[in-house]
Amino acid sequence: MSCEKRKQTVNARDLDEMIMANDGICLHCGEIDGPVEPDARNYKCNWCGCYTVLGAEEAIVEGWLEIEE
Ligand SMILES: [Zn+2]
Repeated sequence: MSCEKRKQTVNARDLDEMIMANDGICLHCGEIDGPVEPDARNYKCNWCGCYTVLGAEEAIVEGWLEIEE
């Protein structure tokens, strides 16, 4: 199974909720997953099974998560 990472986009309101809830995002399937630490890296996704879940803040810092207006 290929677990390629893809850039994800999220709107600002959803991002706020993610950070408040300590949710992360899977860079493979795009599902919200958690709770995880804000700086989590490469955690296992409960949806697709790939080790591609990053904490919300980490995903932004690393450039994987873009905020749409
Ligand atoms: Zn996933």
